Amino acid sequence: MNAYNYGFLDENTKKEIRRKTLKAIAIPGYQVPFGSREMPIARGWGTGGLQLTLAITGKKDVLKVIDQGNDDSVNACNLRELISRSCEVDTTVDTLKATVIQTRHRIPEERMSADQVLVFQVPQPEVLRTVEPSEQETRRMHAERDYSRMWVHLYEDIVKWNEIRISYDYPVLVGSHYICDPSPIPRFDVPKLHQADTLFLFGAGREKRIYAIPPHTDVVPLQFEDFPFTVESFEGGCEKCGSKNTYLEESFDRNSGERHYYCSDTSYCGKKQQEAEGETVSIGAEWHE
Ligand SMILES: [Zn+2]
Repeated sequence: MNAYNYGFLDENTKKEIRRKTLKAIAIPGYQVPFGSREMPIARGWGTGGLQLTLAITGKKDVLKVIDQGNDDSVNACNLRELISRSCEVDTTVDTLKATVIQTRHRIPEERMSADQVLVFQVPQPEVLRTVEPSEQETRRMHAERDYSRMWVHLYEDIVKWNEIRISYDYPVLVGSHYICDPSPIPRFDVPKLHQADTLFLFGAGREKRIYAIPPHTDVVPLQFEDFPFTVESFEGGCEKCGSKNTYLEESFDRNSGERHYYCSDTSYCGKKQQEAEGETVSIGAEWHE
């Protein structure tokens, strides 16, 4: 990678991303515009998260990249390769050993610490887009905390279905001011954002936005008193490791026609299986123990 600058991006771009990231941290949940660059992957494949990770990763960092909780998907492997080669860092699949984790659509099952940063890939940063197509208007609504149409949107869901049917991209109120899109994580992961020790950074490459949830910030999912926010529940637990308190993915066996349920966080699932076999492994705490 000698032909490239350290961290792939040029120095001015990294400086700009860091400045915008600091602004995002200073105003939790506020979407800061940035000059998103062309990357060697297509927009929509994690270019926002990638630019953030490249701008904040130093040689002493240890990198983990997950895609839907999985370290081994093609997208995660390619991003990990690019970042580790251009930032000259070691990689890991162990959540506890990583200092920077880039993720698509999941938060690891093991609680992350104050020494770690979680970078989210964000397809659509504007939480109000479902109720308002105009960017100018959504920015006004955020500035004035005019969120009535979002509340009506949730109410209409209840009238139609007798529940709020948003399964991912669940709107959250950050630091008692901005409503924010936590990226398409499942509802199961949303409570992990509340009063965490970890810095959460969100990068949307195509939409050119960076936003952040700093450590120890109140993150409250929108809900009504008589229709409280709930997370997905799974019966039976993971068929590989037996965990009953993790987010499971359904896998369909074409030959037998059976459905199976496994942990979406493959690293955690592997550790649990090793533990069951009598090996000594360090497994992190749950997020809110
Ligand atoms: Zn499992």
